[in-house]
Amino acid sequence: MHEMSLAEGVLAIIEEQAAKSGFARVKTVWLEIGALSGVETEAMRFCFDAVTRGSVADGAALEIVAVPGTSWCMQCSASVPVAERYDPCPRCGGYQLQVQGGAEMRVKELEVE
Ligand SMILES: [Zn+2]
Repeated sequence: MHEMSLAEGVLAIIEEQAAKSGFARVKTVWLEIGALSGVETEAMRFCFDAVTRGSVADGAALEIVAVPGTSWCMQCSASVPVAERYDPCPRCGGYQLQVQGGAEMRVKELEVE
């Protein structure tokens, strides 16, 4: 499950912020997950709970912000929405697509105290 190492990465970001800003507890974490990132939301929740135990983010609420996927279709010469990686173009049905957005996962915001 690669969500476990991703969750550890998220915790590393939070701890870095905690060291910089000096907060003691994180109440809420907003995490952007792109539709094309390959990250499973439910697996991410499970791993986040597991890795944050005993850390500054212990018990923090995890708010998942879904980022839609977009790709550039070579045949249409247009940006098109795609729900999943390797899906065909919704306009022409072609597969000559280049992922533009929604391939990433990132910490958007932290609510701290
Ligand atoms: Zn197309």
